[in-house]
Amino acid sequence: MTTEQTLPPRADPAPRGIFDENLLAACISCGFCLPACPTYRMTQDERSSPRGRITLMRALEVGRLEPDDPTLREQAAFCLGCRACETVCPAGVQYGSLLEQWRDHQWRGRHVPPLARVLRTGMEMTPAFTTAGVVRRAAPRTGPARPETVHLMLGCAERALFPSVSRSVLKLLPDAVDVPSGQGCCGAMHAHNGDSAGSRELAEKLGQRLPGTILTTAGGCGAHLAHVIGRERVRELSEYLLEYWGEHPERLPDLAEVTVGGRRARAGLQDSCHLRNGLKVTAQPRELIARVADYVELPSAGSCCGSAGTYSMLRPKDSQRVLDVHLDEIEAADLDYLIVVNVVCQRQMIIGLRRRRSRVKVLHLAELLAKGLP
Ligand code: SF4
Ligand code: SF4
Repeated sequence: MTTEQTLPPRADPAPRGIFDENLLAACISCGFCLPACPTYRMTQDERSSPRGRITLMRALEVGRLEPDDPTLREQAAFCLGCRACETVCPAGVQYGSLLEQWRDHQWRGRHVPPLARVLRTGMEMTPAFTTAGVVRRAAPRTGPARPETVHLMLGCAERALFPSVSRSVLKLLPDAVDVPSGQGCCGAMHAHNGDSAGSRELAEKLGQRLPGTILTTAGGCGAHLAHVIGRERVRELSEYLLEYWGEHPERLPDLAEVTVGGRRARAGLQDSCHLRNGLKVTAQPRELIARVADYVELPSAGSCCGSAGTYSMLRPKDSQRVLDVHLDEIEAADLDYLIVVNVVCQRQMIIGLRRRRSRVKVLHLAELLAKGLP
């Protein structure tokens, strides 16, 4: 009798319950997602692909790998969380949810990358962001949320770093929205940094403070909010403007073309990954840009710019490698403006183009459209 005949077949230990069983089982290992994945394109390493990472998650789930395994730790951090893999996946794998569950487990306790811990704490300092937003003159608050009104959400980082975005929205939508006080944080950054429970709690609280429809100017915040409180309650600026102006043509402003040096400006777009791959909003920002400028489609517009929530701070070298591809294309396209629809993309692009001493200006879509107002 051979050894093979005497030993029972090796069974994996019971699942650890880290992942939703159905989500983890959905991947059929077809590999369609590999060319869409920025980290796979950079490395050509299967472990840095969506399929490779799902294989690692499965090994973690059944105990074949421990959370402190170096490959697991590296790949949980190297992934941008851009969800480009979801958009091309024929099996409907919800990679974004799997990544949240992975980081939630992987980055627990002592395994949290030290900088991620600092950033999580920083993002809980909502009063500091609120104060910065007031000092820097983000859209003025209008008091408690009014019933039956669409509420403009002031993202934590956006109100502090780019206050003119919310002011521009009010110019585009006069009397159509309120700006409730005491909004708090939506929790999107917490979700990206391994704190699923905290991120849900923040989104639910924000949904209670702003009952009804919430208007967001950041794809990342919008996708996270929609995931927690429901897509029907969340509108991103570009989709809302087209809907609102379509329903109320009398409120459509007479937008003039934006010019540079006496000619119509040339403007490209950097998609927000979570707006594109999460909320599936792609055509609307392009259509709105084309109303006031010559729209130029950049080859990598739909691919992550490397900002990816807190990624540019946690993995600056990898973030820069991802960004360089975009900067090369922007310079080659001879643009006047690069338009963004998310706060972290705005910061990433401004820093990158400044380093290259580029003449291209970075504007949020709201800021570009406001330039065309009479
Ligand atoms: S994630 Fe989707 S596209 Fe990628 S290997 Fe799995 S089933 Fe295929
Ligand atoms: S989220 Fe982005 S970086 Fe991560 S596996 Fe998917 S495509 Fe690759």
